[in-house]
Amino acid sequence: MSESQLSPSAEAQAFLQRQQKFLIGEHWLDAEDGRTITVVNPADGEQIASVPSGSKADIDKAVAAARQAFDDSEWSRIKPVARQKLLLDFADLIEKNAPLLAEIEALDNGKSVVIAEHVDIRLAIDFLRYMAGFATKIEGRTVDVSVPFMPDAQWHGYTRREAVGVVGAIVAWNFPLLLACWKLGPALATGCTVVLKPAEDTPLTALKLAELALEAGYPAGVVNVVTGLGHEAGAALSSHPDVDKLTFTGSTDVGKLIGKAAMDTMTRVTLELGGKSPTIVLEDADLPTAAAGAANAIFFNQGQVCCAGSRLYVHKKHFDNVVADISDIAANMTLGAGLDPTAQMGPLVSAKQQERVCGYIEQGRASGATITTGGGAADGPGFFVKPTVMVDVNHNASVVQEEIFGPVLVAMPFDDIDEAVRIANDSQYGLGASIWSNNLSQVHRMIPRIKSGSVWVNCHTALDPSLPFGGYKQSGLGREMGSDVIEHYTEVKTVLMSI
Ligand code: NAD
Repeated sequence: MSESQLSPSAEAQAFLQRQQKFLIGEHWLDAEDGRTITVVNPADGEQIASVPSGSKADIDKAVAAARQAFDDSEWSRIKPVARQKLLLDFADLIEKNAPLLAEIEALDNGKSVVIAEHVDIRLAIDFLRYMAGFATKIEGRTVDVSVPFMPDAQWHGYTRREAVGVVGAIVAWNFPLLLACWKLGPALATGCTVVLKPAEDTPLTALKLAELALEAGYPAGVVNVVTGLGHEAGAALSSHPDVDKLTFTGSTDVGKLIGKAAMDTMTRVTLELGGKSPTIVLEDADLPTAAAGAANAIFFNQGQVCCAGSRLYVHKKHFDNVVADISDIAANMTLGAGLDPTAQMGPLVSAKQQERVCGYIEQGRASGATITTGGGAADGPGFFVKPTVMVDVNHNASVVQEEIFGPVLVAMPFDDIDEAVRIANDSQYGLGASIWSNNLSQVHRMIPRIKSGSVWVNCHTALDPSLPFGGYKQSGLGREMGSDVIEHYTEVKTVLMSI
């Protein structure tokens, strides 16, 4: 790969060179106290931009702008069909800018530019279009009531679904643009206004999204984006008394803080949190397909996927073969920068994340695990970690129980279906699980026994806008996507008239 092929396009360079500001109302602003956050390219650790580091004062301004837009602006009176059109226009603009957005995402996050464009941004566009359809389909019910203590009265009872109000959205860095759109889509379809705080490691595509929202025609204050640190801007947003709903995607630890802050102000809250998802290969599975699928389940996006298949359970008869195949796939993966379209694995998002993941690999070694391939950071600049597979692990070990959030797979054999279900469920998390088998009745009998928000069969991390996504147990509260998400962005109002 020549240097010129790896250089950002002129358009991406122009974006990176501009002075980044965040959007509050119709104003592009620096942080009130002038502080900034340095943004680095994880492929080489070099600075590529800096963004304002918002604090409570900036969040206060953004929430005030969102409140004003929600309560008293053309947005508060907009017809559903116009909300639908705006969301479709917004999706069109994202599509038009997809190559640029993908490049920015690759430079900011480290992920493959190909995946950014064809997975992250594609899914975001499809989701916004799916959500646009809901703008005109938010309905209440008419209810024929009796009211027992007033037997002679006549009644007209009905319910209305109304936008919940000002939404505070806080997102993680692993799919920056997509996660932002998972929040913006239902908020804008239902008529809410939004203050979005992207992750400090990956703030850039959110700023471009803010620009596209204005270009699409959203009135000032409907979409506000404040970049900043979690414990400052994030904490200020999650404890703000004038936010009506919080929606969070990130770690379980921070999710608990946000949930507690939400309860103090009785703010509605949904939490999309961590995972430690099992990939279960049954005795009758198509083994080459299962091995390739299990490798993809953990190594896709450098393993930085909330529902990554990070625990592999294989029927004892095939364990050695499947582990050998996955180790072989891992050992032959080419590592490279996100802008390198031939690279099969990019760097992790930050030096901190690289250190954390390597620390887990060391903990695995220390607990007696055998490493079949990988085993630490890759040489050279950038935050790369070699795809790693561990066997001989104790089920109570930290590498089995805790979310590593990197390209590290722990693999164990099982004897029978009961054992597979038991160890798959032996986790504080419950986000996703995949079963690899062609025995339909076996699979159908297993699905209700698996404690997770999604179960995939002969695939893993397959997502669609029309299917709800979210966690059991400590993987979260509520659901993203599908029609289910609309409930979380609306309140139900009951109306009863004596007629
Ligand atoms: P994180 O929890 O550290 O940060 C997520 C966001 O929260 C960031 O914007 C951060 O600035 C903010 N934040 C941090 N501290 C805060 C505080 N005290 N108050 C308010 N906001 C605060 O998570 P991360 O490291 O960015 O992301 C990785 C985690 O996200 C993993 O656990 C992963 O599983 C999870 N995740 C879950 C889903 C899902 O849909 N369930 C999707 C993607 C990522």
